[in-house]
Amino acid sequence: MSQGDASTAAESADTTRPPPDPLVIRSLEFMGGMATIGGWRPELDLPEIAFAGRSNVGKSSLLNKVLRRRSFARVSKTPGRTREINFFKVNDAFILADLPGYGYAKVSKERSAEWGPLIEAYLRGTKDLRGVVQLLDVRHDPTSDDRQMLDFLADVEVPVMFVATKIDKLSRSAAEKRVRELAIMLQVEEDHIIPFSAQTGSGRDELAGAIAGLLSAERAQ
Ligand code: GDP
Repeated sequence: MSQGDASTAAESADTTRPPPDPLVIRSLEFMGGMATIGGWRPELDLPEIAFAGRSNVGKSSLLNKVLRRRSFARVSKTPGRTREINFFKVNDAFILADLPGYGYAKVSKERSAEWGPLIEAYLRGTKDLRGVVQLLDVRHDPTSDDRQMLDFLADVEVPVMFVATKIDKLSRSAAEKRVRELAIMLQVEEDHIIPFSAQTGSGRDELAGAIAGLLSAERAQ
């Protein structure tokens, strides 16, 4: 092929090419889990992003989409790991902390009360935490457990990005209306809530871009 041919091919490809992925996943390594306050955690001096939400909010499905690894959920959903904080090293560049899903009705009250102190201790003690991605089901108002989580987040003053999950379960206009309502309830600007569907992939790149933004932001003092 002559040089002329190559540039013509590149130009025509440009018009159809999707925008570049803001978070290309080159490697993903499961590091281990923190089961108790003060228990093991990776000490790698890498920036960290945590993902939080109620059980069943769609966190594993979302992480599968964000990381483009269908196998991801298998680790965090392994019996015994569901109540841990599970750590993954991504691209040798940052740590992803998958916080235990809270508020599961089938877990006894006593059991479900365990998540608060563990998550709170984690949030307070993580020196390289750059941000938390907080998931909420688009159809439901924040529960008392969500409120407790939001209180922890406000207290540690960490940047928070909200994601409204499962938007495919509503019509486009109903989902937009719910996001507006959630923004009022959470007292945040609407653009701090990313509408997301693991089923359609909608919102994946926006969230990936937000994560990349949190990682590149100056570390809060
Ligand atoms: P987790 O407990 O927060 O990790 O939630 P999962 O990712 O396991 O999802 C809980 C349930 O919701 C599963 O049945 C998923 O198939 C479903 N789910 C998760 N995300 C979506 C979504 O975006 N759309 C729809 N329709 N269902 C979803």
